[in-house]
Amino acid sequence: MSYQVLARKFRPKFFSEVIGQEAVITTLRHALAQKRLAQAYLFCGCRGTGKTTLARLFAKALNCTQLKDGEPCNHCSSCIDIAAGHSLDVLEIDGASHRGIEDIRQINESVHFSPTSGRYKIYLIDEVHMLTKEAFNALLKTLEEPPEHVKFFFATTEPHKVPATILSRCQRFNLMRLSEEQIIKSLQTIADQLSIEMQEPQALELVARLAEGSLRDAQSLFDQLIVFANGKITASMARQALGLPEWELLQRLDQAKGKYEEAFAITEQLFNSGKSLSYFLEELARHFRQHLLAKRGIGSSLGAEHYREEQLLDIMELLQEATVAIKTTPSERVYVEMVLLKILRSHERFALVELVQRLEQLEQRLQHSSPPPKPPTKPATAQQQIMNLAETVKKPPEASPRPKPAETKPQTETKPSSSPPIKLEAHTKGRLDTLMRFAAKELNGTLKLD
Ligand SMILES: [Zn+2]
Repeated sequence: MSYQVLARKFRPKFFSEVIGQEAVITTLRHALAQKRLAQAYLFCGCRGTGKTTLARLFAKALNCTQLKDGEPCNHCSSCIDIAAGHSLDVLEIDGASHRGIEDIRQINESVHFSPTSGRYKIYLIDEVHMLTKEAFNALLKTLEEPPEHVKFFFATTEPHKVPATILSRCQRFNLMRLSEEQIIKSLQTIADQLSIEMQEPQALELVARLAEGSLRDAQSLFDQLIVFANGKITASMARQALGLPEWELLQRLDQAKGKYEEAFAITEQLFNSGKSLSYFLEELARHFRQHLLAKRGIGSSLGAEHYREEQLLDIMELLQEATVAIKTTPSERVYVEMVLLKILRSHERFALVELVQRLEQLEQRLQHSSPPPKPPTKPATAQQQIMNLAETVKKPPEASPRPKPAETKPQTETKPSSSPPIKLEAHTKGRLDTLMRFAAKELNGTLKLD
């Protein structure tokens, strides 16, 4: 048997085999059952979402002599001829290469001849938005009063380029992009039928992600992967076959918490491999977007566990700016190093929410262990409040009734307290001070502490 690409080999023969597009399929089946047929149908949607597949299936069903539950039989002579592409009653026209008025005139002349064997004469014009203005005008004449036995099916990726006069004479279907889950499921079915062993499920996830909602793209990529792997398929094979060597570097970055030297090592490896550094930043943005989605319970993402959600939002923001800014930087290499360092540093930065909580706790404990300070005559700003707090903490022990820092002997402590007194080690005090200053700067004008 000769080789056939997957997209052709696994083209659905029944509506029930079509992946997704449930609403469209239900409508088409009802139309067939109730014999409520429009003169023209427009199938809109991105590439590879099944526009011509559905149009062909519908054409088959319309002319099938043994229609069963709204499905074509695939055995009658009409079904067989249509599937083989030599039916005289179903004419497929490529709108991109037959876009002129002469092409439409030929259609207009032929519509009056009865179908040769089937019930309907069906014209399927793909990429219909490519027709010229004159061609559309000529087509409109026939669309206004088509013979009973004629049906027009149009498919387009750009419905906004189709004139309103044409649109208003069509029943329109908007096809959705397929979800990654739908694509994975469909590829798994193909793998099962071909007896191909998927050693790691991530391999199909990678293919599905790259296909961006197009089943045809997914099938082509999968085809490529099958040829490359020549047997069992692993995730690393998928990365190699589909040209995703950055993957390994992204994983290293995820695991590099506390190891700042990795920022330089990763950049060097990228630089030496000759990959585009600005493209890497885009990859990075996609990578962290995936992490963020996983945190929200949408899909899974290897390495997401190393980050907090708040942190991922900050990283996404950083990368949004970086992907633009790298285009004007004098040294892409140094720039990428800096971006990676910032990402690594984000592990050690407190999230703002966390910071506010810590301050609140501290404030409560301070209030419990010392008499409340004289209320200010007018409300202090958030920055003043925090700085006041910081001042109280910094005051030397003799000037304050609060506990002394750890370097003074604890036995001199005499004042009893209902809540445990705060004991500040020297380094804790230093960190607290930094924290206060940082918070005061970050919160100024954005948050009010009551
Ligand atoms: Zn049939």
